[in-house]
Amino acid sequence: MSTILVIFGTRPEAIKLFPVIRALGSTPGLRVRTCVTAQHRGLLDQVLSIADLTPDIDLDLMEPGQTLDRLTARLLTGLGEVMDRERPDWVVVQGDTATAMAGALAAYYRQVPVAHVEAGLRSGDIYHPWPEEVNRRIVAPIAALHFAPTGTAAAALKRENIAPDTIHVTGNTVVDALQWTRARVAADPDLAGGLDDVLAPLTGKRLVLVTTHRRENFGDGMAAIARALVRIADRGDTALLFPVHPNPQVGPVMDAIIGAKEGGRPEIIRTAPLDYPHFVRALAACDLVLSDSGGVQEEAPALGKPVLVMRETTERPEGVAAGTARLVGTDEDRIVHEVFNLLDDSGAYAAMARAHNPFGDGHAAARIAELIADACRH
Ligand code: UDP
Repeated sequence: MSTILVIFGTRPEAIKLFPVIRALGSTPGLRVRTCVTAQHRGLLDQVLSIADLTPDIDLDLMEPGQTLDRLTARLLTGLGEVMDRERPDWVVVQGDTATAMAGALAAYYRQVPVAHVEAGLRSGDIYHPWPEEVNRRIVAPIAALHFAPTGTAAAALKRENIAPDTIHVTGNTVVDALQWTRARVAADPDLAGGLDDVLAPLTGKRLVLVTTHRRENFGDGMAAIARALVRIADRGDTALLFPVHPNPQVGPVMDAIIGAKEGGRPEIIRTAPLDYPHFVRALAACDLVLSDSGGVQEEAPALGKPVLVMRETTERPEGVAAGTARLVGTDEDRIVHEVFNLLDDSGAYAAMARAHNPFGDGHAAARIAELIADACRH
């Protein structure tokens, strides 16, 4: 038996790792242990409950107002102690969070091999996204197995002199998570039934799904986004569904510019973060997506939803290349212009609204589990 320790701390990591944990769990010869750092407590717990996952170890490291350096120090110490107790044969980390970076480093200090899920994403700019671009670059020279979601990501790793035989193009596990969740919602509509009350009064209106939480958009960017949302709502024929991220840099700015949640602007529906089944259903119901999220850029094309990305650069160029994503930055006029263009020009809309999966085929987790099992046998 080989022990595989899977480490994660945030909502996107949980969404992208639950299919891997399931696949590893059903692979003979592997004993799977899961450790959550709870870098983002509430959002993480939403996913754990939907995916029916009870972590073996919960470090519960979230602190209000945590700084990056204090968080990283606590992650490194906490995860090191877990590894000393668990003595894993392999450590699995995902993506570009502080948890992934510190988990890889703690494993390296113990000479435990690391498998990196969603390896090779690069924007080329260490401040966009910040600090994720550097987090994932730090994992690269440490990892012994690199699961690149796409050929572009694999090529980026090769340019950094990562040994080609350690790089595997698997697809992104977010597509596995999305397909699994869609099937569950189809089988049990009550799972996402809470959306009925939200969507019912909007019949006849176009729907824009909005998410924003990037650190580099805090401040002026967030205020510009809020003003753009107001102008979109002022059209009258369009509603915006906006699950507001709990980061204190988001909600108060929105309240100050958009107005109070209740009674203010009925076209801008601000909700608490949606659990994954509700979010997947909202994605399927909307006409287009306005987001600065990484994961949402990967999910929207799978459902044929145009996504306008409120960032200057992206480490996920596949959606842009395929024509379903467009970078619009955080300039208020540009956001408004791009949204209006899609709402008013059916040709422009049709050109972007094409269901396809540049990020994966829904079988990434099975490939990853097999490759890890294979590495354990050698
Ligand atoms: N998501 C969710 N509920 C929401 C908003 C987003 O479940 O209210 C999901 C979304 O489907 C995607 C993930 O959260 O899979 C993206 O997480 P986030 O935007 O926090 O992080 P990023 O992907 O930018 O790292």
